[in-house]
Amino acid sequence: MIVGHFAFGLILKRADKSLSLGLLFIATQLSDLVFGVTGLAGIEKINIVAGTNTVTSIEYAFYPYSHSLVATIIWAALIGLIFLIVPFKSGQSRSKTALVMSTAVISHFILDFIVHNPDLDVLGSGAYKVGLGLWNYTYVSYTVESLLLLAGLWVYLKSTKGSTLSGKYGMPFLTMVLLILSAVVTFMPAPASVQTGIIMLMTIYLGTIAAAFWLDRKRT
Ligand SMILES: [Zn+2]
Repeated sequence: MIVGHFAFGLILKRADKSLSLGLLFIATQLSDLVFGVTGLAGIEKINIVAGTNTVTSIEYAFYPYSHSLVATIIWAALIGLIFLIVPFKSGQSRSKTALVMSTAVISHFILDFIVHNPDLDVLGSGAYKVGLGLWNYTYVSYTVESLLLLAGLWVYLKSTKGSTLSGKYGMPFLTMVLLILSAVVTFMPAPASVQTGIIMLMTIYLGTIAAAFWLDRKRT
C-alpha cells in the first residue's frame, strides 16, 4: 500500500492522544522507510517490470529485512521497547504508548498483505510468500486506499480538536494532497528507474511525516 498506511496512524492517535501523529506516521511507514535506505544501498532489491501489477509495476525481488513478517515483528518489538524504556513524557502510561507504536509498525504488513502479489516473505527465508494481490485491480485498489485514508482522517478529526485555521483545515488539506499524490503514483506510468521511484516515494513519505509533526501540534 502507498499512502493508505497513514490511515492506521490517524486511527491509532485515538488510542494514545499523547503520541504525536508524526511518530505514528513513522511507525506505520517504518517498513518502507527502512526499504528507502536498504533499497538505495542495494541491500534489498526491487525491479520495475511492466505488468507485474497494474498499480506500481514493481517486482519485489528481495526485501526480507524491511518487509518480511518476521522482520516486521522484530521492528515492532524494537520500537515498542524504545517507547517502554525511554521516558519521552512524564506521568503517562508508557506500556500503552509502546503497544500503540508496535501496533502501528505491524499494521504495515497487514495492509501490504492486502495489496501485494504473493511476494511478501513471511519467515525472511523466501520459502513462504503471501499477498492477496489487490494491486492487480487499479481502480478498486485506489478506491480502497482512499476510503481507508478518509476513514482515518474522520477518526482523527473526531478524537482531536483544532481551533486555529491550520488546526482545523491542515489535516484535511494534507489528506487531499495525499489522495492526489496517490492518484499520480497509481495511474501514471512507472518511474524511469528504481532509484527515481524510491526517492519519489521517500520524498512523499518524509514530507507527510514532517507535516504531521507540525499539524498535530495545532490540535489538542
Ligand atoms: Zn511497504
